[in-house]
Amino acid sequence: MSTVHLSLEEGHALAMKCLQANGCDEANAKAVSDRMLQAEGDLCHSHGLFRLPWYCKGVRSGRANGKAKPTVEQLAPAVIRVNGDGGYAPLGQDVAHKALVPCARQNGIAAVAFVNMFHIAAMWPETERLAMEGLCAFAFTASYPYVAPAGGTKPLYGTNPMGFAWPRKDAPPMVFDQASSSMARGEIQIHARDGHDVPETAGIGPDGEATTDPNVVLKGAQLGFGGYKGASLAMMVELLCGPLIGDFLSIESQADDGGEGGPPKGGELILALDPAKFGDPDGFMAHGEKLFEAILAQEGTRLPGQRRFANRARTPAEGFDIPQSLHDEILSLM
Ligand code: NDP
Repeated sequence: MSTVHLSLEEGHALAMKCLQANGCDEANAKAVSDRMLQAEGDLCHSHGLFRLPWYCKGVRSGRANGKAKPTVEQLAPAVIRVNGDGGYAPLGQDVAHKALVPCARQNGIAAVAFVNMFHIAAMWPETERLAMEGLCAFAFTASYPYVAPAGGTKPLYGTNPMGFAWPRKDAPPMVFDQASSSMARGEIQIHARDGHDVPETAGIGPDGEATTDPNVVLKGAQLGFGGYKGASLAMMVELLCGPLIGDFLSIESQADDGGEGGPPKGGELILALDPAKFGDPDGFMAHGEKLFEAILAQEGTRLPGQRRFANRARTPAEGFDIPQSLHDEILSLM
């Protein structure tokens, strides 16, 4: 596959120019570009420039608000709602972070319910950012129906990711961030684009048939990881990010999109816990390290997040590659 090599700065400038050419104001374009290049910096390509044409399409069609001004509302002492004003998630997440940290420190625990936003991408940027402030954090979001319920064959749940971050003293936080499906949809799309098979556990065809063809899975249904256990977690995320906070279920988000296939509109729930207000404010961190040391003492292990942090150390100097076809598509949008 022919590729184009970019520095992180070149990628950011490309994204800014393209988003602004398609109707985003500077604040929205910057927040989205920051987040996409943060993903490229960690070599998480499925949330990097791969998404840019899709984001532009959402703004051009008028569905997503490229000039969104997110607002913050205190619903209860420890519950904040951020209304994304119909824009892309990153700007609302920046606004929410500033409100959530003091609220969690004051109450020991706090939640942000995000509503009225488009495409809440990966869970690690928000949870990691909170753990950098010494907080433990959870994040959840739903999207479009891609995953069949346990035993079923038709898409109902999003691939519904969940993230968890734990602060560490002299090391980057421990962060895991995983879909409740066996594979993230973006990864299946990338396999389809690049002509690679997916594992049989990734999904089923339209009639429930087994397949390793990513194009057939994309027409059929994805499967939860670990069978019914992943499906139950996907169901939990639907309930937390839809009915609990007053936003869409994945099936409602798809109906709202009207078949356009643009970025999904929906909600996100983030929880932050301040260890200083729980049982062991002075010892929790060293106690957590005891667990990490025991994990890493076993050959073949690593902590979740370590792959990204290792990539992050390299990409400012080494840059990253995108497919030539994606680069051409981005240029054609400006
Ligand atoms: P992966 O299966 O690639 O990774 C899941 C987690 O496991 C990561 O935190 C990863 O850390 C960790 N991990 C992987 N291998 C190991 C290992 N050997 N030992 C310890 N930890 C390990 O992620 P997914 O494919 O499930 O999801 C990819 C991304 O897509 C996520 O960021 C997710 O939020 C996002 N997503 C977004 C959706 C949405 O609707 N917005 C839907 C679904 C997914 P590391 O990063 O260091 O490899």
